[in-house]
Amino acid sequence: MPKRLTKRGQERTPLGGGYDVIVCGASFAGLTVARQLTGSEARVLVLDRYEIGERQTSACGIPTEWLRVMGLEASARQEFGELVVHTPRGTSRYDLPWTFSTFDYRELCQLLWAQCDAEFETAKVNGRSGETVHTDRGDVSAPLIVDALGWRRILASDGGYQPPDAPLSRGLEVHPDGGSADLEIWIDRRYVPAGYGWSFPARGEQRIGVGSFDPRFHVKDTTVLLADDLERPPVRYQGNWIPHKLRPGTEDGIFFVGDSAGHCLPLTAEGIRTAFYFGIKLGDELRAVVEKRQGREAALRNYAEFVDAHEFKFRWMLRAQRLLPKLPARVQRAVIRACGRKRFVDWAFGHYLRIAPPEFAGQPPERRDEREPVPAAA
Ligand SMILES: Cc1cc2nc3c(=O)[nH]c(=O)nc-3n(C[C@H](O)[C@H](O)[C@H](O)COP(=O)(O)OP(=O)(O)OC[C@H]3O[C@@H](n4cnc5c(N)ncnc54)[C@H](O)[C@@H]3O)c2cc1C
Repeated sequence: MPKRLTKRGQERTPLGGGYDVIVCGASFAGLTVARQLTGSEARVLVLDRYEIGERQTSACGIPTEWLRVMGLEASARQEFGELVVHTPRGTSRYDLPWTFSTFDYRELCQLLWAQCDAEFETAKVNGRSGETVHTDRGDVSAPLIVDALGWRRILASDGGYQPPDAPLSRGLEVHPDGGSADLEIWIDRRYVPAGYGWSFPARGEQRIGVGSFDPRFHVKDTTVLLADDLERPPVRYQGNWIPHKLRPGTEDGIFFVGDSAGHCLPLTAEGIRTAFYFGIKLGDELRAVVEKRQGREAALRNYAEFVDAHEFKFRWMLRAQRLLPKLPARVQRAVIRACGRKRFVDWAFGHYLRIAPPEFAGQPPERRDEREPVPAAA
């Protein structure tokens, strides 16, 4: 179990005062926004209910190039040039045009935080009125507020999504010790009627899980079944809801990024690189405001338009997510086998990567000073 470092008792002094930017949520999206503000002279406060890196929020698989361009390679655990796709009628191996890597969540968050010069506090965000964020340690204010709190979209005026009556998938995984050379997925109704199972090895640990596009399908039993089939014990559970619909990037003067804006890709449920990608864009827009190169309204407009410009790609991924499970098993198998041809794999995975391409990351921003970052979870 991770060591709990979250501030407790007397350490939980009241929070208050004003900042230039408040970033709520210190995972992939929130830390990326804060990183883009490094060196801007802005007073940036990052809030999370847990210490940085304390609670893993995913299977932590990502196109390797994204780790490199973000300066996060040291967190990588295992790299894969192939994707193995199992169906009840056979197995296909896709030779990928780029590699995929698993990483260690805590290490990645620590590396990302080391690129930031923001302040960090552990506090539970309860809501907002105007430019004031209400937390369990008091109220803090800023003209620029970011909700990177995940699927709940807590700072939205409509109160966010309520599962299961919302466009959410659900995912659950176990993290037994062990290993494998292959990155594998299962498209098999034995595990889930609409969705897929996975095994993401991460050097000594195997992340085995099931994701269902239908939020009403309970994935616990079949996650255990898949772990049993792989002869691994179902230990160390981790799961969450996964939004599969793009949502507006701004609302009522607030910026939303990562899962709170539905930036997780439908069909594949890949949401880390998109959290980086949209986090970079949002951080750059906010930086232009704090450096007085543009006003807040321009940042709201530019960021909202940028998010909207991706709607078409997200809609197509969602269509594929709805269509694939409806195909009869033998048609699914035929499609998966046909899609395994090298030219098609290169074309399809090339397009897929370009939804949020690594080149977008550019150069990491300069730190303002060389002070030690606030320690993340040990
Ligand atoms: C089982 C599973 C496996 C997955 N595997 C992958 C994968 O391998 N690759 C991939 O690309 N995507 C994967 N995803 C999707 C991915 O996890 C998300 O898209 C991604 O985590 C989104 O990042 P985020 O920063 O927006 O939100 P999150 O990572 O969810 O972070 C939200 C942050 O907000 C904090 N927070 C929430 N509420 C409050 C509050 N009230 N007050 C204070 N802080 C709060 C949380 O502690 C957390 O740090 C997976 C999802 C699941 C459920």
